[in-house]
Amino acid sequence: MKKLEKRSIFCMILAVLLLLSGGIFTYRFVTKGGTWASFPSNRHLYNNGILASGQILDRNGTVLSTTTEDGTRIYHKDKTIRLATLHAVGDSAGRIGTGAQTFFASKLSGYNLLTGAHPIGGNRNLFLTIDADVCAAAYKALNGKKGTVGVYNYKTGDIICMVSSPTFDPKNPPEIEDGDETYDGVYLNRLLSSVFPPGSIFKLVTTAAASETMDDLYDRTFQCNGHFQIGDTTITCSKAHGTLSIQDALAVSCNCTYGQLALELGANTLNHYVKKTGLTASLSIDGIHTAASTFSFSDDDAGSLAWGGIGQGKDLINPCAMMVYVGAIANGGRAQLPHILSKLTTAHGLSVGSYSSGSTGQLISQQTAAQLTEMMRNNVVTNYGADNFPNLNICAKSGTAETGNDNKPPAWFTGFLRDDEHPYAFIVLVENGGSGSTVAGKIANTVLQAAVRAN
Ligand SMILES: [Zn+2]
Repeated sequence: MKKLEKRSIFCMILAVLLLLSGGIFTYRFVTKGGTWASFPSNRHLYNNGILASGQILDRNGTVLSTTTEDGTRIYHKDKTIRLATLHAVGDSAGRIGTGAQTFFASKLSGYNLLTGAHPIGGNRNLFLTIDADVCAAAYKALNGKKGTVGVYNYKTGDIICMVSSPTFDPKNPPEIEDGDETYDGVYLNRLLSSVFPPGSIFKLVTTAAASETMDDLYDRTFQCNGHFQIGDTTITCSKAHGTLSIQDALAVSCNCTYGQLALELGANTLNHYVKKTGLTASLSIDGIHTAASTFSFSDDDAGSLAWGGIGQGKDLINPCAMMVYVGAIANGGRAQLPHILSKLTTAHGLSVGSYSSGSTGQLISQQTAAQLTEMMRNNVVTNYGADNFPNLNICAKSGTAETGNDNKPPAWFTGFLRDDEHPYAFIVLVENGGSGSTVAGKIANTVLQAAVRAN
């Protein structure tokens, strides 16, 4: 009898194990099946390791990547467009892991649970939200410099422009030697997957924290003598700015004012606001996770805290996260999250999917958003020059981050259009770029003019 009992317990355990493993397999099949079927060794879908099904188009239906009948993958005929859209589209060898060709391979092959992946002929048309011509304008404006340009619609989340430089021609991929400076980080989409010192664009975050915690911020004046001392740290400005309101201080990017503000706010408040404003979160762009910005303010070292509030600390920011933050400023404190996928159709044009994104939470109050908008417009009118942005109702902040080495610092220019027909937020980063408003501001103007023209 005992023997029988032991055996039945043993059988029960076996049955439970079988059920468990079946459950795990089913779960993984449902969640990972597309990736398994799109694996490069699946000969139905790949021709000599190159994805041989599906085509990628921009929002206007311009074909950016497609396959011939024999399974050869071909790209747009215009070289500038190939170079400009490389990081969005991807390359045949799959080195750019965040490119659509690699990241969305299962969508391109028409994979589904019931029928599996389709061989050649089961092609899907994957429409991206980007505009190839606006990307080409951004690529040309970067003029060979390393950096990134992003433009997105803060009301719909559509990414219109996503360019990362250096880049290469996917039609003729180069042999890149280790340590070749020309191609430094070329497989990385800098908009999504990189972090850089923020420089003065961070003053927008310090301003938001001050605006929401100091009742008298807009009635106060600040005094700048060109430098001020905290222990053995000296905070410096390019010149003595004299007596300033907070609007003036943001427009001339006064380090002394923002250093003082950071000390008054304290590390806890600044840490709270970088988190609240969404800067430290990794965003999901249709499943592509962005690099998270890193900030950690501490009251232990007042000098570092002051430089941190100015944006010249050890902190690093992701360009896409900053673009979303300025999108939220433009849109009453919350913005639509960016996305790159527009729709998926069969080769005959039948819709099999359309994509949208969610919204951020309330990152800053509506009132703070309105105040920051006025201040960012004031920056343009009093400092950057409205004439440099003809016919654009642009609100912006420039930034020049000190990297502490002999290279020129990265140049930033970020902001948005106050324009219901063209609700675009943007970010421009030029590595070793020098002055933010001159170098990156000029690129922003070129790209925004193209974006407005295109719509
Ligand atoms: Zn100053």
